[in-house]
Amino acid sequence: MSMVSISCSCGAVRGSVSGVGSRWGRRIVCLCRDCQAFARFLQRSAEILDDNGGTDIFQVTPSQITLDRGQENLACMKLSPKGILRWSTSCCNTPVGNMLASFKVPFVGIPHLFMDHAADGTTRDAALGPVSYRIHGCDGYGQLPADTHDKAPFKLIPLTLGRLIIERLRGHHLPTPFFDTSNGEPVSTPRVLSLSERQALTAGAI
Ligand SMILES: [Zn+2]
Ligand SMILES: [Zn+2]
Repeated sequence: MSMVSISCSCGAVRGSVSGVGSRWGRRIVCLCRDCQAFARFLQRSAEILDDNGGTDIFQVTPSQITLDRGQENLACMKLSPKGILRWSTSCCNTPVGNMLASFKVPFVGIPHLFMDHAADGTTRDAALGPVSYRIHGCDGYGQLPADTHDKAPFKLIPLTLGRLIIERLRGHHLPTPFFDTSNGEPVSTPRVLSLSERQALTAGAI
């Protein structure tokens, strides 16, 4: 069990992820067009996306994340009214986390740019282990690695649901830096993109 430092690119938002390797800790590369659109929305796709349009994401529970400073810089968006919450920092457009719109769901996927492995004197592979799954290859481009799944592998669904139920029973949806649990609202009101804004991002026009 170990700790991973997290930081936005400018350093205004800092904290840590605890218990890495003990519970969740599934590292996934998601090549879906929504993750690509989010990277373009932040205008940092060259840093966020790999050669195939994939985002390297580490899945944890909200209770594993502690923000020591800069929580007021958290910004939130949705690609559509029913979309997931996509968190970033208003100071420097670093992607922070992707999660469902309810604080009761004990799941957040942290994009790689928010993890500061150099501060820990290590590398991503050493800290988190290898990528478990590459998913949504149907939206990827270029020469995809041979182990890329077209969508999500079927076994991921029971694995993920099972972990969600267990972590919820353990209460690991709390504490959370992303929600005001007194009213269940996100700490920053999500900006919901219009259809035309979303289409522009999905087409790669921005
Ligand atoms: Zn920043
Ligand atoms: Zn995705």
